[in-house]
Amino acid sequence: MKRRRFLSHASKTAAAVVCSQFLPPGLRALEEPQGAVPKPSPNSSPRPQLALTLDDPTLSLGSVIRWQDANSRILKAISDKNVRTALFVCGMRVDEVDGAKLLSAWDQAGHLICNHSYSHKFYGEQTSYADFAVDFLKNEKVIAPYHNRTALFRYPFLKEGDTADKRDRFRILLKERGYRVGHVTIDASDWYVSQRYLDQLSKKPKTPVAPYCDYLIAHLLDRAAFYRQLALDVLGSDIRHTLLMHLNPLNAFVLPEVMSAFENAGWQWIDASLAFEDPVFRSQPQTLPAGESLIWALAKETGRFENRLRYPGEDDIYEKPKMDALGL
Ligand SMILES: [Zn+2]
Repeated sequence: MKRRRFLSHASKTAAAVVCSQFLPPGLRALEEPQGAVPKPSPNSSPRPQLALTLDDPTLSLGSVIRWQDANSRILKAISDKNVRTALFVCGMRVDEVDGAKLLSAWDQAGHLICNHSYSHKFYGEQTSYADFAVDFLKNEKVIAPYHNRTALFRYPFLKEGDTADKRDRFRILLKERGYRVGHVTIDASDWYVSQRYLDQLSKKPKTPVAPYCDYLIAHLLDRAAFYRQLALDVLGSDIRHTLLMHLNPLNAFVLPEVMSAFENAGWQWIDASLAFEDPVFRSQPQTLPAGESLIWALAKETGRFENRLRYPGEDDIYEKPKMDALGL
């Protein structure tokens, strides 16, 4: 039953069909998505909007694809949709000569070049405020040369501090440096789907990408529907969303299909700069541990949505059993 429901779900997206055309039967079953895909209602509401934000550009993508090819494929997929994204740069992954080439390509294409810290530290018990602050400041030098450098900071792992003191001190530092938080509203685990694909490729070099593309699309649309509905319930109206994805090999192969699938599900892609103008991105939820999707934190802060909030909001632990069951 679940498989049939997924097939009808997937067939709403031409892209998913493209992804799946060479799929062996039996690999299509997915868990029923936790939320319905939002259906645009042409008479009453405009299409929900989202911007693509991409984290962790890197020169080390393994043996599957060269960074130059991944970079150009992803840039082309985005430019084909005629939008600009925000790129959240973690210095240690690009801090060499080729890293400047990688970032320049994004800068020249008009994408926002933003700060994601130098060393990607987890701002919890294991990281002091002082260490986290130094690491953030160190990364300013990495992005400083670029024309489209933008004062948006994204916390690694979306973790904003485990104590009120650490949370608030870093928020003050951001403000002093002229930064705002580059919040994610639609959080997801695309990084894990790519990792599973690479793991499988290392065992079976002829592993087709299509089932992983299908899984990724279903997962992202499901999470988008979940966070959109949560935002509607918490805030009472639609906001401009920001989707978190990463520069990884799977996304390099399937981003065109992913972006089209969102459009076919009723979403409209917009520029990241426009999305971040939404006043919702100025909120500062007083939750602890602080962080997760901005919508998750705003919902948590109300105390009224406990039955819909898991912690962490997204992680590999939620996807692993589903992917295991599918043989992915
Ligand atoms: Zn990251």
